[in-house]
Amino acid sequence: MAKKQRMIVVGNWKLNPPTLKEAESIFTGIKNGIKDIDVKVVICPPFVYLNELRGLFTKEKIFLGSQDISSESKGAFTGEISAEMLKNVGATYTIIGHSERRAKGETDADVAKKVAVALKAGLTTIVCIGEKERDERGSYLGFLKEQIVGSLKGVPRKFASNIIIAYEPVWAIGKGKEAVTAHDLHQMTIFIRKHLIDIYNTAAASEISIIYGGSVDEENAELLIADGEVDGLLVGRESLNPENFVKIVKVVEK
Ligand code: PEP
Repeated sequence: MAKKQRMIVVGNWKLNPPTLKEAESIFTGIKNGIKDIDVKVVICPPFVYLNELRGLFTKEKIFLGSQDISSESKGAFTGEISAEMLKNVGATYTIIGHSERRAKGETDADVAKKVAVALKAGLTTIVCIGEKERDERGSYLGFLKEQIVGSLKGVPRKFASNIIIAYEPVWAIGKGKEAVTAHDLHQMTIFIRKHLIDIYNTAAASEISIIYGGSVDEENAELLIADGEVDGLLVGRESLNPENFVKIVKVVEK
């Protein structure tokens, strides 16, 4: 596990919910449910809800994040949203390189550029990595190594404590899929940490949190955390259901 970090649970709402009213209701449900819990909770709603949601909390327990950022800071980049803009509407975290963005053509080089920009702007950066499929001979490990190295290329070591690696195997994400086993997850955390040590050094690598995402629910959260040796979880679908999400956070706290 990473050095002295508080456990973290991130909720990625993706392209949901359709209205601000629903977003406020889900957010309030989560906020009320985690009142006395010592776990860092980060909610990543669609961009347009950030400013409204930040008005709903006061305590340093629940944080807001974006699901992506632009690698540019200003200028003629239609449709883009900069790290500075996100900070100004309450985001302190950002997800970068989610497999659903990579599926739309985002490369490791794009990810690395965004990661550097986000960290420089002071956003804690959740860098998603994960293989599309596994094979008996382990060639997915080569793919993952390239993804880790490529996604952090040129990202200075001094930012280590603000980097979170989210291991999200693509085959485990979404409806009808199954989470990785805790045993396999433990092997992956060691594999990822080894490559972080190679890129930076042992001290810097120990500052980086590693979390897991992909079909996390109340049932599997305990084993994933206890035996998977991760520092937290990234939750998709279940983060839209406040009751279920709070149950996951409580399991992580235990
Ligand atoms: C995700 O897409 O980041 C994710 C973890 O999704 P789910 O929990 O729905 O599998």
